[in-house]
Amino acid sequence: MTETLTRPAPAKPNPFVTAQQQFNLAADYLHLDDGTRALLGDCQRELAVRFPVRMDNGKVRAFTGYRVQHSLLRGPSKGGIRFHPDVTLDEVKALSMWMTWKCAVVNIPFGGAKGGVICDPREMSLNEIEHLTRRYTSEISILIGPQKDIPAPDVNTNAQVMAWLMDTYSMQAGYSVPPVVTGKPLSIGGSEGRNEATGRGVMIVTLEALRHLGIDPHGAIVVVQGYGNVGSNAAHAFAEQGCTVVAVSDQYGAIYNSMGLDLTLLDAHVRDTRSVVGFPGAESIGGEDLLTLPCTILVPAALENQITEINAPRIRARVIAEGANGPTTPAADRILFERGIFVLPDILANAGGVTVSYFEWVQGLQSFLWKESEVNERLRDIMTRSFNEVLQEAENRHVSMRIGAYILAVDKVVRALEVRGIYP
Ligand code: NAD
Repeated sequence: MTETLTRPAPAKPNPFVTAQQQFNLAADYLHLDDGTRALLGDCQRELAVRFPVRMDNGKVRAFTGYRVQHSLLRGPSKGGIRFHPDVTLDEVKALSMWMTWKCAVVNIPFGGAKGGVICDPREMSLNEIEHLTRRYTSEISILIGPQKDIPAPDVNTNAQVMAWLMDTYSMQAGYSVPPVVTGKPLSIGGSEGRNEATGRGVMIVTLEALRHLGIDPHGAIVVVQGYGNVGSNAAHAFAEQGCTVVAVSDQYGAIYNSMGLDLTLLDAHVRDTRSVVGFPGAESIGGEDLLTLPCTILVPAALENQITEINAPRIRARVIAEGANGPTTPAADRILFERGIFVLPDILANAGGVTVSYFEWVQGLQSFLWKESEVNERLRDIMTRSFNEVLQEAENRHVSMRIGAYILAVDKVVRALEVRGIYP
């Protein structure tokens, strides 16, 4: 056996340790003092809850959930809610810290938060998911509120889950409170364009990157890992720009067609079977092989720690646009930078979702709805401006786009801390 076959795969990094390493790099560039590092390098508030749900078979099951607020310095905190069996407190803390930097990169007036419940919604009925959502909302209602902390969808949660959250919070308040959550259905104050916003934002910054690199987007080859909300909307957005999406995957497997996938037929297949696997217009490939296909643009849009020191040397993309949060380990990041692969970091690339969530929150507070064209135009302005600010910072300091984005973001949060001062 060769050495590579006998050597055990390195353990996947703890996402919160990754988040802290990324923060510390920026803190070094900004010469932050120890007190500021200790404050911003950890989370402001962490709530763990354990609660019962009566399942369809009449039995009671206990679930564990979290809501973490990393920072409230730049405004109310904002961040999605994830339902997944692998949720941990450290994962939620990392996602919450990343939200702080993301909101700062695109300069919207929020701090960062995140929530999660350890559960497998694939094994639960709609009725059970509704009861879990309502009880979890009630448990975290001491933290959330339209001026305090505003949840949104994340992995395995969607507009329906947000509607149950909004209804539960409103029942406790005694009146309707639409701006307590974003990513809601349009019928209760959701924003036009929110469902597509994260994927659309990924496309906008990637096209900016292609322009910067002198690559024609027309005919660019796109590979997407994770065909959920972010991945499927990014795939469609790239296809609308004349790119060819050749491969996509989900937790069950991956599919490939060198001539390009017919996304309309694929969506119908996913609606019917709940997976991309078995799509007649493509061949089946391994999920790991998808990441190393030759392509112009690789979009990881699933979970953390997918691009590692093991596969990074074999990645054949020109640009990586991080639709997911934390898909690249720090070791892989260094390899990609040395190999000259242009990485659009998560806190920039997937910020389109929270940007249109901000639009939805503003519309909710004002009870005034915007047209889809208005939403998309404002999204384009913010994403384009943010890309150029990050690029300038990265070029000025001769660092990667990730470090550039972190320096910009951490600096904005530190300035908020300085100008607000320390209470009491
Ligand atoms: P989702 O639940 O809609 O989709 C997740 C997809 O990833 C599913 O298709 C799932 O099958 C697939 N998947 C899971 N494990 C996989 C694996 N090992 N290999 C390949 N595919 C796998 O979730 P989403 O909202 O699209 O979120 C995806 C990522 O984007 C997450 O990291 C999330 O934090 C991030 N994100 C989401 C938003 C948003 O607006 N929804 C905004 C910013 C960032």
